[in-house]
Amino acid sequence: MRIEYCDTTLRDGEQAPGVVFSMDEKLAIARALDAVGVQLIEAGIPAMGFDEQQSLRMLVDAGLRADVVAWCRADHHDVAAAAGCGVGLVHLSVPVSDLHLHHKLGRDRAWAMMAISSCVRDALDRGLRVSVGLEDASRADDAFVLDLAGRLHELGVERLRWADTVGMVEPFGLRTRLSCLISAVPTAWEIHAHDDFGLATANSLAGVLAGATWVSTTVGGLGERAGNAPLEEVAMALGRLHGCPSGLDTTAFRALACLVARAARRTLPPGKAVVGRNAFTHESGIHVHGTLKAPSMYEPFDPSEVGGQRRFVLGKHAGRASLRHALHQLGIAPDDEKLGEVLEQVRMRTTTLKRPLRPREIRDLYNSTLMSVDKLCDGSGLADRTRR
Ligand SMILES: [Zn+2]
Repeated sequence: MRIEYCDTTLRDGEQAPGVVFSMDEKLAIARALDAVGVQLIEAGIPAMGFDEQQSLRMLVDAGLRADVVAWCRADHHDVAAAAGCGVGLVHLSVPVSDLHLHHKLGRDRAWAMMAISSCVRDALDRGLRVSVGLEDASRADDAFVLDLAGRLHELGVERLRWADTVGMVEPFGLRTRLSCLISAVPTAWEIHAHDDFGLATANSLAGVLAGATWVSTTVGGLGERAGNAPLEEVAMALGRLHGCPSGLDTTAFRALACLVARAARRTLPPGKAVVGRNAFTHESGIHVHGTLKAPSMYEPFDPSEVGGQRRFVLGKHAGRASLRHALHQLGIAPDDEKLGEVLEQVRMRTTTLKRPLRPREIRDLYNSTLMSVDKLCDGSGLADRTRR
């Protein structure tokens, strides 16, 4: 099954608290997403005004293979603004839960049906391709969502987004509910998951198992509150755990995540799945020993698949194999009989520093420990040893 990606780093991602992308950053991110091979780049909200419209026009003119999508509310002014940006595809979003309809808009389900239908017709009349996002679908009445989805499909909407806007569903329930909807309304469905309970990737996979052929993602999961489903996690998990090859250039994932993190002025967490610096870093002696023999013992896939690097660090949990490897990397052929003493020093030093040792520190520690041991052996270092 072919899964397609609508990446919304430039729209939902930029809605993350405190994040602003400059035009140059937007262009660089869009080009990088395009090179990776995502099919759609949801790039902004024309109703926000001149600057946002300018950046959308710039991306439309950038000659990308991916289609640039403008995000709109169910509002005719939004549709007109999107049409003015030169995009070929608009995404119209409408709240579908009573909670959102009542509290945000003071409206009801009948209004939602009427307003979105009218805007869809408007956009189609302007020659635009149209997708619709069912905002807060996970907290909506499924019968209403089914009615609305059927109506939108009849109108000619090419894709429907089932949005778990506040991350309020778990994968098992999601799969059951979305399966019913997808079997009843035969159009292209997209799963849009948020990570408020840390389930965005799992929910995206569940959406695909329910029959969705599109996944909405952001790079590194950047997005409002706890963020969105991360592109790199979803693509690798679908490919590796469900046999759905992404068709994307996954080798660019690490560089793409670093690019977006820099533009967002955020630090990419070291332990971030797939693209974090530590995603393929090994410290524990047992793991290093195993990984040196057969990397698949302690790695889900080769780091080169996502542009990452395997690293071994010498920290508190190091073992003889790690130490031997670290010294070999420094061009030192260690004396096996002295490794135990050196390892003891490594553990003491890393416990004090609360971090792994750097290459120069490893070399210095090895040399100084050997010197102490040698002195001890010939009797001259006894005083030093007792002082330690
Ligand atoms: Zn969202």
